[in-house]
Amino acid sequence: MFPTEIKILEKNFLFLKWDDNTESKISLTDLRRFCPCAICTSESERHHHDYIIVYSEDQTKITSMKVVGNYALSVIWSDGHNTGFYDFNYLRKISSTNR
Ligand SMILES: [Zn+2]
Repeated sequence: MFPTEIKILEKNFLFLKWDDNTESKISLTDLRRFCPCAICTSESERHHHDYIIVYSEDQTKITSMKVVGNYALSVIWSDGHNTGFYDFNYLRKISSTNR
């Protein structure tokens, strides 16, 4: 599964169009919450599942993003966080979980 189009909508959503013509929309807050990098994963494991994470505006704004290695999206957040590589399958999964 590959995206044919990736863009930010209304500064709040990541929009993906897939090669099977389906579309996904993920809010940037959810995208940040599901950051798959080692730092964020261990951070969320430390907390109880009903722990509410509060993000600053910088943490839910994207400075830039690019496709890496044809399998993932690399996102650089406004607070400088840049270790998240979102595998396309993973993006597909978190977008359907939110629906
Ligand atoms: Zn992270």
